[in-house]
Amino acid sequence: MTTAAMPENEQQRLEALNELGILYTPLEDQFDKITRILCRMFYMPIAYVSLIDTDTQWIKSNQGLDLITVPRSSSICAHTLLADECIICEDLTQDERFKDNPFVTSGLKVRFYAGFALKSRGHNIGTLCMIDDKPRKFSNEDIATMRDITSWAQTEINLTQLNEVQIQLITDLDQAQTAAKIDGLTHLWNQTAIKDILLRAHHRHLLKEKPYTLMMIDIDKFKLINDNYGHPFGDQIIQAVADSLRASLRPGDAIGRYGGDEFLIILENCPHRRAEELGQRLLSHIHGLTFISKGEKINCSISIGLASTDHIQLDSPEALLEHADQSLYLAKESGRDCARG
Ligand code: GH3
Ligand code: MG
Repeated sequence: MTTAAMPENEQQRLEALNELGILYTPLEDQFDKITRILCRMFYMPIAYVSLIDTDTQWIKSNQGLDLITVPRSSSICAHTLLADECIICEDLTQDERFKDNPFVTSGLKVRFYAGFALKSRGHNIGTLCMIDDKPRKFSNEDIATMRDITSWAQTEINLTQLNEVQIQLITDLDQAQTAAKIDGLTHLWNQTAIKDILLRAHHRHLLKEKPYTLMMIDIDKFKLINDNYGHPFGDQIIQAVADSLRASLRPGDAIGRYGGDEFLIILENCPHRRAEELGQRLLSHIHGLTFISKGEKINCSISIGLASTDHIQLDSPEALLEHADQSLYLAKESGRDCARG
């Protein structure tokens, strides 16, 4: 296998990447839109956005690929970092650089690869890619389309701004620690991380005196879904609910998987009234999801518990969490599929 050489501007490239502050953050919805569109437009099974760090390629958003990281040493995209614009390879088995790459010889058995470099401050920091397990043709017109979509992805990268608390969390952690804070199933923050973000958000709230809101969310009657349709189908529902919740938030809001079918959202600078409106939107978005199993159409709902600092007089993050949890209990008691607090 040919491991890609290091780019000459590796140091500056890493600086440009780190400056963006988006390296290890969970997947984000604006990139999911782009990868979804690519799969539909090109009838491609897999599309992804990745960012490439010193030793690791991070898959920021993907369709059809169940990976969060790839070692840079075996990454096909690491080669695209060296290209001016893109690498199009219609059959990887015919290319000396890739024919014995592990992604070609085993596992996915990738055959087709189209990777476009994503730039920040003029340096290649990641890739926008499509892959297929069959060789394919890729025309000049296809390349022109990809060029436009790459430019869109680049704009999104530069617009993506995490709120300060999430950036603080990332900069306080090294790579391995950060990877350990992402939930494997949903790619959201896990419970440890979201609790950490809560402490930081609370601290900022005390300094800046801006209201913030916690939202505790739990899927209704989820045990029944598992019992009736099986655990793997239950996993699909958790993933779809996670995606839908994330898609409804602002880039600076933080969301984590708090437990099995439970999520915690932290909305900074968000008073109770605005959180209630958002809660109604989330309820209706989840209603809109439809799943099919055993030939049956299945819908699901969630219940929401709120705790806003401008609505209740509580002075610790623990007390707010407790309040959000009690509000969630009230929502369940009130018949589910509603928000309380
Ligand atoms: P309620 O409306 O009161 O929330 O009812 P519920 O059935 O959803 O009850 P609860 O929230 O207590 O149940 C959560 C269930 O989620 C229990 C557990 O078996 C299941 N679960 C936890 N983690 C996972 C997971 O990763 N995948 C799947 N498929 N199920 C999970
Ligand atoms: Mg539940």
